[in-house]
Amino acid sequence: ALAGATRAGRRAIAVVASAGSTATGAFDPLEPVADFAQAHGLWFHVDGAHGAAASLSPKYRAQVKGIERADSVVWDAHKGLLMPALVTAVLFRDGARSFDAFSQEAHYLFHGDGDDARPYSDVGLRTLECTKEMMPLKVYACLSVLGTRVFEEAVTASYDQARRFAGMLTAAPDFQLALEPDCNIVCFRHTPAHVPPEGWDALQVRLREELVSRGSFYLVQTRLPRGVYLRTTLIHPLTGDADLEALLDALRRAARP
Ligand SMILES: *Cc1c(COP(=O)(O)O)cnc(C)c1O
Repeated sequence: ALAGATRAGRRAIAVVASAGSTATGAFDPLEPVADFAQAHGLWFHVDGAHGAAASLSPKYRAQVKGIERADSVVWDAHKGLLMPALVTAVLFRDGARSFDAFSQEAHYLFHGDGDDARPYSDVGLRTLECTKEMMPLKVYACLSVLGTRVFEEAVTASYDQARRFAGMLTAAPDFQLALEPDCNIVCFRHTPAHVPPEGWDALQVRLREELVSRGSFYLVQTRLPRGVYLRTTLIHPLTGDADLEALLDALRRAARP
């Protein structure tokens, strides 16, 4: 892609890797991407909105090996870390660079003196909005009272559960798993014998609408190269394996002719 862009007269400035892609939660191999970015003098950004939290789990940390080499990382505490929305961060390897990426001028707020450029200074200088919520307070409160262990356990438990759910789906003859989950996102579809393969996409759409409007389960859907799949993100600490069995049964019942 870089060679193609260069030939077309475009100048690439960055490589963006996914640490937990939005649709399937698949992780790019960050180490080789970091090598590539370094070799070509490109900024290395990791979209870890969902998956950077894996770094807190000793069991699943290998998933984000290489993230420590990123120039910048986006990370959402309202995803893997149980925080109420919204707590989102852009982490820079070198804090000073954050002023190069975004900066704004407002002579009634910022005075261009040395104080403006210090890393701890008004974040208004480096963001698009002006008034902001004090987002990090929620994370700070949890860290200072509970330490990192509560986060570590939440990540490990949800990733473990996704693997068990994938096992349940693989064992069920009337369900298909889209791919082995890298994190706590599981994509799958219901393929009962009475529906021919050409009807599977429409079936997933109908099943999702039905379950969500009934209010018993909340699922989303996504379109993958092989068709429409149901998608679930296992994040609530009180979700148990029995709930997942119940989900499969609810889908079976809703699919019956
Ligand atoms: C959730 C997600 C986003 C969007 O993040 P929000 O801060 O919740 O809007 C971006 N990228 C990825 C990979 C995500 O999973």
